[in-house]
Amino acid sequence: MRFTVVGCAGSVPGPDSASSCYLVEQDGYRLLLDLGTGSAGPLQRYCAPEQVDAVLVSHAHIDHYFDLNALSYLRQRVGAAPLDVYGPANLPAALRWTDEALLRLHTVTPPGPLALGPLAVRLAAVEHGMESYAYRVGDALCYTGDTAPCAELDKLADGCAVLLAEACGYEADSVPRHLSAADAGLLAARAGARLLVLTHLRSWLDHDRLLAEAAAVAGCPVVLATPGLRLRA
Ligand SMILES: [Zn+2]
Repeated sequence: MRFTVVGCAGSVPGPDSASSCYLVEQDGYRLLLDLGTGSAGPLQRYCAPEQVDAVLVSHAHIDHYFDLNALSYLRQRVGAAPLDVYGPANLPAALRWTDEALLRLHTVTPPGPLALGPLAVRLAAVEHGMESYAYRVGDALCYTGDTAPCAELDKLADGCAVLLAEACGYEADSVPRHLSAADAGLLAARAGARLLVLTHLRSWLDHDRLLAEAAAVAGCPVVLATPGLRLRA
């Protein structure tokens, strides 16, 4: 499985990154985890719009789904098939446009598994004040989406190799219904992860401080997500 960070900015795009979007590729199959604001642009560095096989959306906040619109438009221009999108039941209402020629929307139900091409995906309902999911892609990768620490997330992340976790704030100034950097580090330690990748990085925060706070407790190597970061898991 190859994993590429397309965008990793939290809440809104930053000067150097679109909002959350991650490309997972295996055996020629291309899956996106979230497709946040601005991410359809840099996505084209890594694949053509019509090469995306499916999108998994964690929840219906715009920094996680808004560029479904842009990607659908790009695909329509080249006559591509409708885009398969898997996500929460409230996503269609959030989108406000659900043209079946552009999108095929599928509601997810935990715990899965969903069979997406060669990828088996499990999911957990997490705590973000709205319908939200964390995703485990194969054995290797766990993506938290946005959530407070919770038991369902712990169960889903257990034993993953790579934990892709939001780091929405500092320990002393944590944001409700989100993981702080320290929360992400503690989750990595409990899961026994081999690598923690911090994401949902808000542009106005000190990312080195987030990295230090997570690294102090993670018990594994910790890196900041950056656009173009590519891993094999
Ligand atoms: Zn959110």
